[in-house]
Amino acid sequence: MSRSSDGPRMPVLFIGHGNPMNAIRETPFSRALGKIGEELPRPKAVLCVSAHWMTQGATRVTHMRNPRIIYDFYGFPQELFAVQYPAPGDPETAERVMAKSSDPVIQADEGAWGLDHGAWCVLKHMYPAADVPVLQLSIDMTKGPAFHYALGRKLKEFRHEGVLLVGSGNVVHNLRRVNLADDARPLDWAVAFDEWLKQRLEERDYDSVIHRAMDTTAGKLSIPTPDHWFPLLYTLGAADEADSLRFEYEGIENASISMRCLSLGR
Ligand code: ZN
Repeated sequence: MSRSSDGPRMPVLFIGHGNPMNAIRETPFSRALGKIGEELPRPKAVLCVSAHWMTQGATRVTHMRNPRIIYDFYGFPQELFAVQYPAPGDPETAERVMAKSSDPVIQADEGAWGLDHGAWCVLKHMYPAADVPVLQLSIDMTKGPAFHYALGRKLKEFRHEGVLLVGSGNVVHNLRRVNLADDARPLDWAVAFDEWLKQRLEERDYDSVIHRAMDTTAGKLSIPTPDHWFPLLYTLGAADEADSLRFEYEGIENASISMRCLSLGR
């Protein structure tokens, strides 16, 4: 049921979040996120599919009224652990998300999770006042790409309810090949795969994105594990064919991390 009277139809986003330190750095990337937050219609809630909430054999949605912030990383400066992001949850929207799918069943998470850095590192720049309610949806890592794309399709109608779907991962994410130097040269295969993805999206060839991303050596190196890749499939699933595509940010950081960000329907 469409509830278009609740507000404008929201676009869908995919954000390449990269290094957690991006949360506290003022960079062209953080400014691009801030600009998106300022320019989009104000959402009633953000539904974030973060690479960092992986579940096994279940899909969960955060259902608490006040999700805790999770510092799910190690070895970073203390200032990163001091970041607060006290955005409220939205149990009512969580219940509507749960009602939307019977296969898979979406389970309520009452406190195991909260907001992980895939969500708050991004939202801190988009909505710095932490005054937009945030929910997270977990990624069932026992499922393949077609499952995640299909579940994204089921979430499409929430765009009419003022819900902003944000997939947060990275198109290219290979931590074994990372070079932490600020001027690290992008690796050739990372550039090649990022460009391949860009072209597939411009052609709206989602079939290749879903089924053929890992066919090449560049694809296998870019997606050594699919956790940072799957959030993109939710974003594409919730998009309509007529949605305009916009690359909000691009670039390869630390040699093997694509920071590509995109919107559909903006
Ligand atoms: Zn990450």
